[in-house]
Amino acid sequence: MTAPRVPLVAGNWKMNPTGRDAAVELADAVAAATTGLAAETVVCPPAVYLEAVAQAVAGRIAIGAQTMRAEASGAYTGEISPLMLAGLATHVILGHSERRQYDNETDAGVAAKVRSAVDHGLVPIAAIGELAKERRAGRTEEVIDRQLRAAISELDRIAGSGLVIAYEPVWAIGTGVAATPDDAQVAAAQIRALLHEADAVGAGEVRILYGGSCTPDNAEELFRMPDVDGALVGGASLQAAGFATIVRAAAEVRG
Ligand code: PEP
Repeated sequence: MTAPRVPLVAGNWKMNPTGRDAAVELADAVAAATTGLAAETVVCPPAVYLEAVAQAVAGRIAIGAQTMRAEASGAYTGEISPLMLAGLATHVILGHSERRQYDNETDAGVAAKVRSAVDHGLVPIAAIGELAKERRAGRTEEVIDRQLRAAISELDRIAGSGLVIAYEPVWAIGTGVAATPDDAQVAAAQIRALLHEADAVGAGEVRILYGGSCTPDNAEELFRMPDVDGALVGGASLQAAGFATIVRAAAEVRG
């Protein structure tokens, strides 16, 4: 039997805050408010703050990068390699819709990065989800299927990889309109079933997060869904107290 999944709540700070001291202060406040809870807390600051944040939290919570290059080194101006994250981050968000939209992140690119993250001992948080127009066209299932199959396509096996999948309907990101818990569960169950096809043991290990306008007010009902093991949180991760409320909800409902 697979061990119970430890809930995970990750804060994607995106391009915030715009100062190192504020980043350190936020990370420290999150660590103070979430240490000891029965959930894994991850903060994902901008890359330039990783070192300062790592020092400030000193292992009390986990740290993630917001992206990385698949290659370990080379002529990739402006990029960060998985080797450079060693000692700074244990997790990495890959395939976020903003990177798909603004930085030409492709399904094939996400696949290579997921494989590279696992090879370098990092936990990949692979983000997938449909656009508003895809949802309107009834294509949600098809998009999830395509993006998920691609994301895992270069892994030899899922079991033991640490893989985390974040289901983030793009229309819910930063809009204040979250998916309903039932809709989040339908997508999460589809993801779990697809993972099961690929690796029956691994599917039970993968944490599936919901992302998209998750707040202290709606987190608990989302976490009551059987396949929703936590959240990837954007805006609400920039307030330590509110973010800690989300982590606490995950710990209480699923921990
Ligand atoms: C995100 O960008 O990953 C996200 C979930 O953002 P928000 O919580 O602000 O919708």
